Amino acid sequence: MTYLFLRQEETDMIDIHNRLSQPFAACINNEWIYSPICFDVTNPATGETITTVPNLGIAETEQAIEAAATAFESWSITTPKERSKILHKWFLLITEHTEAIAHTMTLEQGKPIAEARGEVSYGASFVEWFAEEAKRSYGETIPSPAAGKRLFTIKQPIGVVAAITPWNFPVAMVTRKLAPAIAAGCTVVLKPAAETPLCALLLMELAIAAGLPKGVLNIITSTAAAAVGKVLTTHPSVKKVSFTGSTEVGKLLMEQSASTLKKLSLELGGNAPLIVFDDADIAVAVSATMASKFRNAGQTCVCANRIYVQTGIYYPYIEVLKAAVEKLVTGNGLLTDTSIGPLINREAKDKVIAFIKDAENKGAKIIAGIPDTEADSLYIHPTIITNCTPEMDLSKEEIFGPLLAVYIFDKEEDVIALANDTPYGLAAYFFTENVRRCYRVMEQLDYGMIGINEGIISHAEAPFGGMKQSGFGKEGSRYGLEEYLATKYVCLNTTEYKN
Ligand code: ADP
Repeated sequence: MTYLFLRQEETDMIDIHNRLSQPFAACINNEWIYSPICFDVTNPATGETITTVPNLGIAETEQAIEAAATAFESWSITTPKERSKILHKWFLLITEHTEAIAHTMTLEQGKPIAEARGEVSYGASFVEWFAEEAKRSYGETIPSPAAGKRLFTIKQPIGVVAAITPWNFPVAMVTRKLAPAIAAGCTVVLKPAAETPLCALLLMELAIAAGLPKGVLNIITSTAAAAVGKVLTTHPSVKKVSFTGSTEVGKLLMEQSASTLKKLSLELGGNAPLIVFDDADIAVAVSATMASKFRNAGQTCVCANRIYVQTGIYYPYIEVLKAAVEKLVTGNGLLTDTSIGPLINREAKDKVIAFIKDAENKGAKIIAGIPDTEADSLYIHPTIITNCTPEMDLSKEEIFGPLLAVYIFDKEEDVIALANDTPYGLAAYFFTENVRRCYRVMEQLDYGMIGINEGIISHAEAPFGGMKQSGFGKEGSRYGLEEYLATKYVCLNTTEYKN
């Protein structure tokens, strides 16, 4: 094994600039796979090519699945403690290489370097958590309804896992799937987003350095997402598909997986409401709105999409919010005072501009931010738009940009109906100092995750996942491991038959 990223002494810090000047490879069976056909990874802040990675296809995907299937035979019977040790070492190595990974992330994804460091730590926390949870895949004994029978269950790894991840969290979306799969005793073929494959490849290298045996994790880099996805969702050796991305692609993958009836986890789009009630603490509500809305320039599936503010608090809340938004600094994420990086690509920027134009045509008002709609760059200045209504496109779709859409409401029951009036059900937030309202509203919101007086809700210890067309399955928490386990029920006859 030659290390691409680490020096032979695995604890050496990486010279990431030097590393990025060399080509990157995909990985099958712990072997680096090069190809004459490559695609560019570009920096959204500058448009420059960072490096290239192999553009693999159907044949390599099949090869990776076969490697994972072979590795499953031995990996699935390792003890949880053995798996835990390797995961723990992986966690330590990721943590140790935070700077290099964060720097790479800012280059390929655009987020501010401080956020990138935060994501490395958050991403690593899944590896640490599941290193522990590996040891807790308990079955149960069941009180028997029949004398002479003993009933119990055992948990076993489900098999080869296909993981498909998006570009917005190049480390955390990857570790959130790989860590529980590997902890459970599964083996994995990962296809990271073509926009951000570098962090995944750095993680791969650290996994090998941590002692992960060959074939347990394989990475296919490709721009042929549909072709690779088709193999991953139809190959009979793949037993589980874990996907984070758009609802549209999630539905397609579910349809394709039906032919071999694979177990699925789908973490899809959202349309998060954020409700500020009259009795909210304004400072808390504004700071949480800012954190929820503007993290990663608004490109997260749990970002507040619709801000509903009650009439009595509307003007004071907007005033404090506007002052906070005007302090944000848009720019290259490597500059330390940047709080908003570029959007991921031109299509993403055009979509946000189209939302602004549609909303303005339907009567909305821009009260902060001057969207630079014509510039070549991928930046959008943080923008607040008020007088929003349900007819506007930004009310129906995920904005995925630093555009804050504000609505005004009068009654609690009206805002609950408005908040639930979407096919999505990922995350919702509300702000109130009234404990009775906390329970009442929380129970009526049709969302998989609720933040009360809080805008940042994701933690390795908590179950992340949606309802309705935001998908199903949980990531993180003790439920996260379950997604990669099959429950086997055993009935043992203990009767002695005597002649
Ligand atoms: P986004 O709009 O956030 O890019 P996508 O759902 O398009 O969301 O992409 C999420 C992940 O799914 C990426 O890794 C992408 O390459 C992959 N993907 C896109 N289309 C398909 C497909 N037809 N089959 C399998 N994977 C796909």
